[in-house]
Amino acid sequence: MPQHPAPVGREDLLARFEQALEATGVLTNGPDMAPYASDWRGRVHGVPLAVLRPTTTGQVAAAVRICAQTRTPLVPQGGNTGQCAGAVPAADGTQVVLSLGRLDRIRSLDIENNTITAEAGCILANLQQAAAAADRLFPLSLGAEGSCQIGGNLATNAGGTAVLRYGNARDMVLGLEVVLADGSIWEGLRALRKDNTGYDLKQLFLGAEGTLGVITAAVLKLYPAPRAAVTAFMAVPDPAAAVNLFNRFRARCGDRLTGFELISRLCLDILFRQIERFSDPLPQRYEWYVLCELSDTHAAEGLHALAEASLEAGMQAGEVLDATLAQSKSQAERLWRMREEIPEANRREAPWVRHDVSVPVSRIPELIGLGSERLRKRFPGVQIVAFGHIGDGNIHFNATAADAAHAEAFIAQQEAVYALVHDLVMSLGGSFSAEHGIGQLKVRELARYKSPVELALMQRIKQALDPECILNPGKVLPPG
Ligand SMILES: Cc1cc2nc3c(=O)[nH]c(=O)nc-3n(C[C@H](O)[C@H](O)[C@H](O)COP(=O)(O)OP(=O)(O)OC[C@H]3O[C@@H](n4cnc5c(N)ncnc54)[C@H](O)[C@@H]3O)c2cc1C
Repeated sequence: MPQHPAPVGREDLLARFEQALEATGVLTNGPDMAPYASDWRGRVHGVPLAVLRPTTTGQVAAAVRICAQTRTPLVPQGGNTGQCAGAVPAADGTQVVLSLGRLDRIRSLDIENNTITAEAGCILANLQQAAAAADRLFPLSLGAEGSCQIGGNLATNAGGTAVLRYGNARDMVLGLEVVLADGSIWEGLRALRKDNTGYDLKQLFLGAEGTLGVITAAVLKLYPAPRAAVTAFMAVPDPAAAVNLFNRFRARCGDRLTGFELISRLCLDILFRQIERFSDPLPQRYEWYVLCELSDTHAAEGLHALAEASLEAGMQAGEVLDATLAQSKSQAERLWRMREEIPEANRREAPWVRHDVSVPVSRIPELIGLGSERLRKRFPGVQIVAFGHIGDGNIHFNATAADAAHAEAFIAQQEAVYALVHDLVMSLGGSFSAEHGIGQLKVRELARYKSPVELALMQRIKQALDPECILNPGKVLPPG
């Protein structure tokens, strides 16, 4: 017989949370809760019933147990940098935010096993630094790394700029510790590279955006620290040339090619307008650029020669119009910072209808060409930025109105813009969400593009792991 818990009043509920987490672990007044209530862009606003800030896995479990007993919906939140408002609670004041930020310890680092065990609230940059201090690399790298948390990275299966060489966040995980919907703890912190003992349960929670369990800790893979790196910033004639150049570099450099990013001119114009510390790396204006990194685990002078030879070959083939190679570590860091600040510059510039799409790498030119053509025809004057991880087939393809006066009117047509771009993406064999997930912004897209069989499977998994639907309701899946 299913148990039907008695309804509980707000004060009683808060008292239970305070007993489990202590008063400092429960925020209830508006100003304290404000940073947890809206998304990174400041466009989606929720009203939390309370914000819970546990410091241990035991406290997370206790909080979830109270939620289960009282059927109180909860929204796990990491750094709240997600791009689909997955960590933002509903606006009706019925959901608690479960912030993992105080669960931020590195539990252990095993150099011989090349693994690090970290709690969910560890800021990604701190994790990278802990690995570097042990002469190892934790390769996950993205623009929000100073504030996003590893739990959020795993819950969204984040991508970033090193996927080409190291894979998505999912590929860096050996084990997980997860608090389940009834408050029990799955202790799956195995540090094994081989473990074929039935279903690989951790995969259920990676990329589930907090709808199937709360990740509290993870065993992550470490890699040899690179000893040498070369960064090149290249102007290319168009996206087709960028794809050819990518394949040229890939063929010549193999796994030493660790980053290959496409940037359109409008991205740079907006960057220079909004973030003044940057200036044009090349003397002339071009329409398209590629930012590329080669790295190696031994400090080989050959790496520079390899980059130059690949660049030279690209120039001879007409794929590179102009280029600069970073002459120092700080120059290289500056070029990468430029790339990483593009989302922030865009955010300051205007509201955008944003698409985080992937297609087979070979179809990127069609995506950008046809997508731009169709958007311009349907929405005259539309401005389009395209940038992203061309080596992964993942392009951020964002559109806004011709000028600020029409921006909100354009955003009001978001569903039509989505449909135009996403229909094209699907016709090219792509995905309407490459690395940002579904959250609450892409739920309709999921319902639209997933097959009935796939949707039903997802619903059955949700039903099995969270039958009362208390974990991040309204996210990922359309209402059952
Ligand atoms: C400037 C900028 C650049 C970015 N660049 C990239 C990029 O290159 N690649 C990329 O993939 N993303 C990128 N992002 C998006 C974002 O940083 C990632 O999605 C990141 O992984 C989210 O981590 P977070 O800690 O902020 O998670 P949050 O935003 O707090 O949460 C994201 C989702 O995960 C859930 N969640 C959070 N923590 C947990 C947990 N412990 N257990 C279960 N569920 C949890 C939340 O409920 C929510 O659904 C960028 C964002 C910004 C602002």
